[in-house]
Amino acid sequence: MTMRSAIVTGSTSGIGEGVAKALAAAGNNVMLNGFGDADEIETLRAGIAAEHNVKVLYSGADMTRPQEIADMVAEAEQAFGAVDIVVNNAGIQHVEPIEDFPVEKWDAILAINLSSAFHTIHGTLAKMKERGWGRIVNIASAHGLVASPFKSAYVAAKHGILGLTKTVALEAAEHGVTVNAVCPGYVLTPLVEKQIPDTAKARGISEDEVIRDVLLGAQPTKEFVTTEQLGALCVFLCSDAAASITGTALPVDGGWTAQ
Ligand code: NAD
Repeated sequence: MTMRSAIVTGSTSGIGEGVAKALAAAGNNVMLNGFGDADEIETLRAGIAAEHNVKVLYSGADMTRPQEIADMVAEAEQAFGAVDIVVNNAGIQHVEPIEDFPVEKWDAILAINLSSAFHTIHGTLAKMKERGWGRIVNIASAHGLVASPFKSAYVAAKHGILGLTKTVALEAAEHGVTVNAVCPGYVLTPLVEKQIPDTAKARGISEDEVIRDVLLGAQPTKEFVTTEQLGALCVFLCSDAAASITGTALPVDGGWTAQ
């Protein structure tokens, strides 16, 4: 198969890490991105590179900073020769009633969960179109399709990224570039683990009740979605077999949004 090169934002943890590993296992070079302990990130980077015999780089670009995003894209282009695949995955969450919702949390969530995808696409789409091949996958959420209380910024950003996905899909459609959103239900990553105590507080229930009634309560399968399942879908969306799938929002949510 053709070796392609990918940037996966927010790939030092959780879903992004799973997607980066899956893309590397499928023979793609990968630029990792995200925050964390430098030694752990280097172990992750070197481990993926050694296991799959692909180039794996790391950028610490902060997804709230457009210039750092542009620098990350330039670094990947220079090292790999091209950026064929972009997976916009970096994201944060904050759970609080809107009256108390901190303004700086709103701004950070909109910047990381939505605007950073504009910036990566802005910096990579022209060259994808020139080459006649590209794949953009935006990791949205079931919260891109439906709302839950106390997640105003997150739900707004995730609905927004579906609009961005559809718009860019239309702009890129005649150039061999597909643009899709993946809408996961709950995946047990640090992002979800951190919101369990806050959701318990906001709803006045115990943490066990949050897991049973709020998280898995939303998903008819009563199972968390896994990072491996999401990685496999991204690999498929990045294959030539998926060339006609564009502008979509694909739920991977155990039936949540079927209700
Ligand atoms: P996570 O907390 O495990 O990982 C988030 C990643 O984003 C980390 O690598 C972190 O370092 C990075 N990140 C955070 N702020 C950043 C910044 N300013 N610049 C660069 N990187 C930054 O979370 P996750 O659950 O794996 O979430 C990944 C994506 O999946 C998010 O967009 C999230 O909204 C989405 N999602 C998660 C779930 C879930 O249940 N976990 C469900 C639906 C959608």
